[in-house]
Amino acid sequence: MKIAIPKERRAHETRVAASPDTVKKFVGLGCSVQVEKDAGLAASFTDEAYVAAGATIAKTAAAVYKDADVVLKVARPMTAEEGTDEIAQLKPGAALFSVLSALTSKDYCEKLAAQGVDAFAMELMPRISRAQSMDVLSSQSNLAGYKAVIDAAAEFNHALPMMMTAAGTVPPARVLVMGAGVAGLQAIATAKRLGAVVYAFDVRAAAKEQVESLGGKFVIVDEEAMKSAETAGGYAKEMGDEYKKKQAQATAEQAAKADIIICTALIPGKPAPVLITEEMVKGMKPGSVIVDLAVEAGGNCPLSEYGKIVKKHGVTLMGHANVPGRVAADASMLYAKNIWNFVSTMIDKETKTLKPKLDDELVQGTMISRDGKLVHPALAAEGGK
Ligand code: NAD
Repeated sequence: MKIAIPKERRAHETRVAASPDTVKKFVGLGCSVQVEKDAGLAASFTDEAYVAAGATIAKTAAAVYKDADVVLKVARPMTAEEGTDEIAQLKPGAALFSVLSALTSKDYCEKLAAQGVDAFAMELMPRISRAQSMDVLSSQSNLAGYKAVIDAAAEFNHALPMMMTAAGTVPPARVLVMGAGVAGLQAIATAKRLGAVVYAFDVRAAAKEQVESLGGKFVIVDEEAMKSAETAGGYAKEMGDEYKKKQAQATAEQAAKADIIICTALIPGKPAPVLITEEMVKGMKPGSVIVDLAVEAGGNCPLSEYGKIVKKHGVTLMGHANVPGRVAADASMLYAKNIWNFVSTMIDKETKTLKPKLDDELVQGTMISRDGKLVHPALAAEGGK
């Protein structure tokens, strides 16, 4: 069975879907692994390291895709309309493991099905204990939360920790974190380690204890409304108008006192909630910094711009694209491990072929297409997006 690791071609994508460590593990199971030339370079994995782990190197994309039974990707393969038709290079019957943004891109998934690809959307991995080691959203968000604070600190022209010096005292920076999920909690932990005083908002009641356990101060908007703000899957719901009004008031007060705001709030399948309005930005101290990790979903602040650092009303707004890709080596190492933990459970040890168990909850949760058809319940049903 040939496993292919193509070089990522999308703008801003610096990660790679396999590390020398995971290549070695796949080779150990009897798979042949082929890596496209320089696929790991931006993540500091050299071709030599892949070869030492047992892979061969393909000089071109066409060569790596050719005859591949399993293709491992970070960003979804490109379409003809996007410039390079990677989907057409996938062999009919091949299995693809990648982040696909499947639930909001039915047309794209239909292209994969039409090509005869058995596609698995890694972002749909069920968030159950057994699948924690396969959860790419968590591994990548965690690094994004960390990097957001490091990016903010680099842009901020004050120090973060309190410093008592002979020449005077530098006060600690005040960091406000919007959304205390995986990225937000790591942002809180990182900002605390750097000596900042940290405040955080979330709509889910469960987040309060988690924020406090990291030394952050949780800002309560409406205790009663928070009790029903979480879905059965642990995600946030969109809040009602009354809550939004109260939250806006509390946020405006906090934003005026903050030096750095890290925005991480998301609602699955919907645009990111607008939490920091232009009025609030105007009310912030000159030289303050906002990092909007939600920018790809529209942003928690309407003034932030995707892929750019902009200055508005004296505040620097950072809207970096692909923040996990800004820590490419660790992001790739963890992503590769997530993929290995999932794919290796499906490899038949005797025939050395991929045999997904169709009644497995993890397979059902992530499998998008099979035998030329869309099979995921959220897409196969009429009326899916
Ligand atoms: P996410 O990326 O979907 O959203 C980020 C955060 O934004 C969430 O905490 C959400 O509650 C918050 N948010 C949404 N609207 C908001 C608003 N208006 N104001 C303030 N905050 C708002 O979330 P995530 O990081 O993917 O985590 C979602 C849930 O999944 C959490 O409950 C987390 O603990 C859980 N989780 C479980 C597992 C597991 O069991 N394997 C792994 C990771 C995460």
